[in-house]
Amino acid sequence: GKVAKGWEKKADKKIEHAAVLGAGIMGGGIAYQSAFKGTPIKMKDINQDGLDLGLSEANKLLAKRVAKGRMTPAKMGDVLNSIDPTLTYAGFEDVDIVVEAVVENEKVKGIVLAETEKNIDKDAVLASNTSTISITRLAENLERPENFCGMHFFNPVHAMPLVEVIRGEKTSDNAIARTVAYANKMGKKAVVVNDCPGFLVNRVLFPYFGGFNALLRDGADFQAIDKVMERFGWPMGPAYLMDVVGIDTGVHAANVMAEGFPDRMQPDFKSATEVMFELERYGQKNGKGFYEYV
Ligand code: NAD
Repeated sequence: GKVAKGWEKKADKKIEHAAVLGAGIMGGGIAYQSAFKGTPIKMKDINQDGLDLGLSEANKLLAKRVAKGRMTPAKMGDVLNSIDPTLTYAGFEDVDIVVEAVVENEKVKGIVLAETEKNIDKDAVLASNTSTISITRLAENLERPENFCGMHFFNPVHAMPLVEVIRGEKTSDNAIARTVAYANKMGKKAVVVNDCPGFLVNRVLFPYFGGFNALLRDGADFQAIDKVMERFGWPMGPAYLMDVVGIDTGVHAANVMAEGFPDRMQPDFKSATEVMFELERYGQKNGKGFYEYV
């Protein structure tokens, strides 16, 4: 991969209006960050509850800034007004970029991306926030794969500086350049990487989760592992991180990594994380994962 130096200058057009699909942990965060940094954004989900959750997260983050005196209430109102929640594709023909952030499931993403492509301008960029699924494979669902790339944010979006911009086999330079420019406008640091399951960061992170699960299988205690990794200097240990990520998302992503790198990802035993998933302990999003949240 290459760092994104110089890419922004190659963009022939600025991103002025955006849209995000999915108002979950990531979609809500992307909407907030885009609006906060001055790009109005439509936020589409399939149910009202999802939209309400995405909006309330944005509200909380903005209220914190106001409470600290770092933003006026009027500005907070403006930012909130530039997030447009919707259950339909109305107005999508006017956006310059759509970032897809629905569930980590290749089939669902394929359907959603194909449907979205029919509702946007022929020139608009379509990007996926997938954690692990190959951009080239997702592009097979599309009529304009040259306009499609990965735009992979990290959680929590407002706090994590990195964005991976992923180049699929058919992605054009222009799509990459515009996406890098949008990432910069959102206050992020972009890195342009080539396509493969997990891109760059998750190729480092998932073997780490694999090591964590192997330790649990050997009888270690998850809280003890977390404490040790914190003392090692990481902001949080692997069990807590899984709860933040979402255990459902983590398990789906781990399966994609195991399929992509069967020699390295040890898919041949049931992990503690999968057991959590079967128990419907999805992490912070539903109040219980490795830890419990009240
Ligand atoms: P989430 O479960 O919090 O949210 C997913 C949202 O998508 C839900 O609100 C759901 O209602 C909505 N949705 C489902 N189908 C839809 C459709 N057809 N149209 C519109 N909305 C739809 O998941 P998340 O953690 O936000 O993950 C979203 C994506 O971001 C996944 O691809 C995931 O791998 C990726 N990602 C997640 C993290 C993380 O730490 N959670 C980090 C980076 C990337």
